[in-house]
Amino acid sequence: MAAQVFAFIVHKDGVADDSALELISAARNIFPDASPTAILTGAGAGLDAVCQEVAASYKQVWKVGAAALIYPNAELVRPLLLKLLPKGAVLLLPHNTFGMDLGPGLAVKMGATCIPDVVGIDGLAGATLKVVRQEFNGQASTHLACDVSNGAVISVRSGSFRPDESRSAGGQVVDKSGEAVGLSARRRFVEVVQAEVGDVDITKADVLVSVGRGFGDKENIPVAEELAQTMGAVVSCSRPIVDAKWLEKSRQVGTSGKTVKPKVYLALGISGSFQHMGGLKGNPFIVAVNKNPKAPIFQVANVGVVADVLEFVPELTEKIREAK
Ligand SMILES: Cc1cc2nc3c(=O)[nH]c(=O)nc-3n(C[C@H](O)[C@H](O)[C@H](O)COP(=O)(O)OP(=O)(O)OC[C@H]3O[C@@H](n4cnc5c(N)ncnc54)[C@H](O)[C@@H]3O)c2cc1C
Repeated sequence: MAAQVFAFIVHKDGVADDSALELISAARNIFPDASPTAILTGAGAGLDAVCQEVAASYKQVWKVGAAALIYPNAELVRPLLLKLLPKGAVLLLPHNTFGMDLGPGLAVKMGATCIPDVVGIDGLAGATLKVVRQEFNGQASTHLACDVSNGAVISVRSGSFRPDESRSAGGQVVDKSGEAVGLSARRRFVEVVQAEVGDVDITKADVLVSVGRGFGDKENIPVAEELAQTMGAVVSCSRPIVDAKWLEKSRQVGTSGKTVKPKVYLALGISGSFQHMGGLKGNPFIVAVNKNPKAPIFQVANVGVVADVLEFVPELTEKIREAK
């Protein structure tokens, strides 16, 4: 099966989302020689800048600029893509709020197969695409065989594919803004409200010591704080820690918390739910400590330690102190 492959690129403040590079690898898991076409919508100088950035990684970049598209409104982007995409196209997009909004309705209108929240692609045989998804909060994987003979809209979970960082495409930006005329929506973008930064900005930290429910009690948080202090790191956490009011909301990593890009991430007593991992970008070196050897976090960790955090972390702190 030969189909044209497209990647919808999400961007903010003139910078492409990390998913831009991950979607290239996802496309190559479908067609090993794929040269996907990137599609970007938006308005103004920020759009031009991000198209140039993306052209380093994609041979073809379709730019659609229009004032109405300044905010990524799925209600506008859906009819636009229906005009732009050829019959039988395969469209990859990130599985974020926007992708979840855009994908299913678009697939229905295209008569294509909708394949949401994909974490792996096992390859295409004829018109059958094999993909992997996760169920039960990451505890089980499901393998699906999907008929993509009429095309597909595939949303890809963040961090599931290694970003293609070769930046050697030397691509060309094609202006398709003429296709954006006459778009109208019933939902209107009002404003962006920036989240509060809080006492510490975890998004700027190079090393994060992240606390999960495995710490068991608020009284144990100083164990992690001491390690962080010894390493020159910053403490972050999973959502149950915030819900239990052990730490402030500004420390939460995840889809409903902060997106962080550390170089090193210590996941301590954290199971590795997709909502938590969705906030972890930039391919950090992950060290996971968990007493359950089957915890999903071990599937993505670079180093995994099966241990009780309350025994292991104080010892690690001590060893680092000695080494200093
Ligand atoms: C809409 C929505 C949005 C969400 N957004 C977020 C988000 O932004 N961020 C987020 O983190 N979560 C989020 N969640 C919650 C998410 O689904 C998980 O429930 C959460 O991430 C689990 O946190 P955890 O890993 O700390 O706890 P658990 O899943 O309970 O894992 C605790 C882990 O600690 C281990 N453990 C227990 N005791 C010890 C010990 N003594 N030593 C070592 N290991 C131990 C266990 O084996 C287990 O793996 C969201 C959920 C929803 C529905």
